Amino acid sequence: MATQQNHADYFIGSRHFGAGKVHPQSRSLAYFCPTCGDIWGRAVVHGATEWDLYVNSCERHKNTGVYTHGQPPGCFLHAFFVNCIAGAACSPAVLSSFPPALIKREFDLTMNHFLAKEQP
Ligand SMILES: [Zn+2]
Repeated sequence: MATQQNHADYFIGSRHFGAGKVHPQSRSLAYFCPTCGDIWGRAVVHGATEWDLYVNSCERHKNTGVYTHGQPPGCFLHAFFVNCIAGAACSPAVLSSFPPALIKREFDLTMNHFLAKEQP
């Protein structure tokens, strides 16, 4: 029996970053910046009737507190996303649900975030 899957479209602001398969019971996700108040990202799940809100700084602002759990600002990929959208522990399957443009963006933001932390 094949596993039913839904699709999500990913947006940074109003820019569409592509689509990918997601867990069948996924809810859409909105990403809220606690500094500027922007909803800077969305994972819009087709067929979902409810939204979850995740607090993580946008890429223009530094993380300010416990709400962001140390995630690089502006990143989608974190434990909450993995559990709610991908429905699995972090694995290559999670990344395979991301469109290539979003994977590149996540990689660039993460590398820049941790390289900047190593600057004296
Ligand atoms: Zn912000």
